[in-house]
Amino acid sequence: MNPTLQIFHNEEERMRNIQEAWEAILQILKSDPTVSPAAYDLWIKEIQPIAIEGEALVLSVPSVFQRDIIEQQFAGPQVSAVQAAIGIPLKLLIRAEDEEAAREEEDKQDKQLRRDLTTYYKMINPFYTFKTFVVGPTNDFAYLAAQSVADKPANAYNPLFIWGGSGLGKTHLLHAICNEIHQNNPKSKILYTTCESFTNDFLAALHDMTLPDFRQKYRDVDILLIDDIQFLANKVQTQEEFFNTFEAIKLAGGQVVLTSDRRPNEIATLTDRLMSRFEAGMLADIQPPPIETRILIVQSKAAQLNFHIDKNVCDYIARELKTNVRQIEGVINKLHAEYRLNGSVPTERSAELAISNVRNDNQPVEVTVDRIIAEVARTMNVQPEDIRNKGGNSQISKARKVSAYIIREITRMKTKEIGNEFGGLDHSTISYATTSVENKMKSDTAFKAMVEDILNNLKTDR
Ligand code: ADP
Ligand code: MG
Repeated sequence: MNPTLQIFHNEEERMRNIQEAWEAILQILKSDPTVSPAAYDLWIKEIQPIAIEGEALVLSVPSVFQRDIIEQQFAGPQVSAVQAAIGIPLKLLIRAEDEEAAREEEDKQDKQLRRDLTTYYKMINPFYTFKTFVVGPTNDFAYLAAQSVADKPANAYNPLFIWGGSGLGKTHLLHAICNEIHQNNPKSKILYTTCESFTNDFLAALHDMTLPDFRQKYRDVDILLIDDIQFLANKVQTQEEFFNTFEAIKLAGGQVVLTSDRRPNEIATLTDRLMSRFEAGMLADIQPPPIETRILIVQSKAAQLNFHIDKNVCDYIARELKTNVRQIEGVINKLHAEYRLNGSVPTERSAELAISNVRNDNQPVEVTVDRIIAEVARTMNVQPEDIRNKGGNSQISKARKVSAYIIREITRMKTKEIGNEFGGLDHSTISYATTSVENKMKSDTAFKAMVEDILNNLKTDR
């Protein structure tokens, strides 16, 4: 009999060969004076031969414990005895069934996680890289911090917290970190998400009782990047979960990067321990770029499109659009589209038109204030006009305070501008109103729940 014979004509024959090889080995072990009959009964009888792989006879035992004992006690001298008896080098490979099951489960989970991560990776814009980011005096700190995190995750700043106004490159830097890490180390488990997705995922997991899956997904990563973390405002339970997520990742040696449109202490009701974690990491702000940087941005965006814009037009665009790079990009895209459509070369005049278009497109404030007031009015059962005008009964005045608070929460309007929405209330009245809402939310849970509902409604159908 030759156990290495591998030309089996069918499965049955193959199994018979394995079985025969194993029985020959059992005979040898049985007659081996160093193997007591008790040990033979206890350890060897349970072994099942399952396959021949190359030069190895693969055996299976029910548990890791049994496998370890067998390997320690028998595998050495007896294997040489077996080899001597059958005259060929034969290895024994012992597998433990419980370990196999655990490994299969792990593999399955790992595959699922990788699938999830690939889906998330598709959310990453490949053009948002460090190379395409124009660095100037108002964003260089955030840029360098982001780069150092990408070079050596979890080395120094944890979390890295990038904050600044809309359209100033926060998301760009977050994607740049992902792109860079992915390029240097494609096996890294990168998870990029928005605070809203994180929140929705968490609430769904709570509802469906799938928290372990949720935790596996968010914690078993090398780097977790969450965009627009300011949406944690007023979500105490999600804050709690995020706090634990952060601690778990940090403990496992991973990195967390966050962006926000405001600094941590301006995120409403942020728990103290989260605040202290944010402050203990690296806070890097981005401010609107100065004119020189804006000119470079205009030129770089045009160059990326292979699109020539005269210097005076570039300068004009950079002079006009001071606070939002997304608008600059919008204008260039618009001029480029016109050029491709009818060959019209950009001029100051066409730039002016494009700029006013982009500004009008980017006027969510009016709409948002209307929607906020409508939503508050609906929930609190008053008329929107009453909220907007001065005076009225106590319910109206309460609704006005809630509106002011929510406007401040979700728009970037200044207190003075907010006052103008209510027939010209002065900024101290607005500050007083928002503070009184904050305080009431602390003491009155029903009131707090109502305000959060309004906030959620506004956010979900945006
Ligand atoms: P935020 O997330 O801060 O609102 P984004 O990262 O989405 O802003 O940036 C808006 C647009 O402006 C993006 O297309 C981004 O590429 C571009 N942008 C912002 N800052 C810069 C910069 N410094 N250099 C190049 N592009 C920039
Ligand atoms: Mg963004």
